[in-house]
Amino acid sequence: MAHRHETIIVTGGSTGIGLAICEHFLSQGCDVINLSRRPAELQDSRLHNIELDLSDRNATAEVAADVAQRHEVTGLVHNAGLIRAAELEDVALEDLDYLTQVHIGAAITLSKAVIPQMKQRGFGRIVLITSRAALGLQTRTNYSATKAGMMGMARTWALELGPHGITVNTVAPGPIAATEMFERVIPDGSPKLEELARSIPVRRVGLPDDVARAVGFLCEPDNGFITGQTLMVCGGASLGSIAL
Ligand code: NAP
Repeated sequence: MAHRHETIIVTGGSTGIGLAICEHFLSQGCDVINLSRRPAELQDSRLHNIELDLSDRNATAEVAADVAQRHEVTGLVHNAGLIRAAELEDVALEDLDYLTQVHIGAAITLSKAVIPQMKQRGFGRIVLITSRAALGLQTRTNYSATKAGMMGMARTWALELGPHGITVNTVAPGPIAATEMFERVIPDGSPKLEELARSIPVRRVGLPDDVARAVGFLCEPDNGFITGQTLMVCGGASLGSIAL
């Protein structure tokens, strides 16, 4: 495969889906800049780990400006994310503020920093990782609200940036095992895992590589005719479930 000389920012590349996304782009010959609080533990000279807490608005702006100044960024994958589970009666608005900053505010700040150079180049790829839970899931008020917000935002950016050769899409995973997020909800070896797999049309939960391949596809330079879309990578878990 011909190697791509591109630089992709990946947020939350230290674990789970983000780590698989970093590995995917590194395997294609891209430079990868991982922004997360912990480093992605991969041995690759093209991987640049930058420690960043995306809930810190000022730190995010500083890092975004610095990265944009030092790198020719061709792609941004905003993958970092977290759940603050609560039934509606117990939802804390502080959690909404936190998730809004990590899921939406950080995406805006990072995109604003790299868009000028993408426009100048006439090429760019932005992918936001949202969730099937944006369609609804118990105890996920703050999570589904902010993930659904990312989808609306991506559609707006697709309209604004399309004329500049920049596509913007969202990838919405269903349950993805081998991630810290999933294992906090369904611990490894739990009987709940089989029950969940049985409820999914393809009869298995997803793996980080399932998502990484979808992200890679949307970022390929040839795939410039797909923008403003949400790709559900969920084994059919987003489909209707009425059994007749
Ligand atoms: P994960 O293993 O928990 O990874 C979450 C990543 O987000 C970590 O790399 C973490 O890095 C980063 N992150 C969280 N808070 C951060 C902060 N304040 N600043 C910087 N980085 C932060 O879970 P995952 O499943 O791979 O999640 C990746 C994305 O997929 C998330 O957006 C999640 O909502 C989405 N998703 C996951 C599933 C699933 O079933 N796993 C389903 C649907 C959607 P540090 O802790 O090192 O900072």
